[in-house]
Amino acid sequence: MQLQIECNSSPFKQQLCCLCTHSFETKEAQVIICNDQGTECGEVCPGCIGQGFSWIKNQFEQLNQPQKSPRTHWRKVQEVPISA
Ligand SMILES: [Zn+2]
Repeated sequence: MQLQIECNSSPFKQQLCCLCTHSFETKEAQVIICNDQGTECGEVCPGCIGQGFSWIKNQFEQLNQPQKSPRTHWRKVQEVPISA
């Protein structure tokens, strides 16, 4: 995960944060989050930036994790000894 700071050509617009999904007003500079392949994943709001890089990384990884299937505890089928 990488953070990129870019000049915003159209500041003062409402934008959705890709981490917390809150809307925020863009500034002249914007922070864009990229995955390891360098693909832009969206903009990050100042609130999220304030949480620090490791927090952002953590959030990003959680968001981008392939959906884990809920842990299912397979009931072991009890072997019933047939004594007939
Ligand atoms: Zn945010």
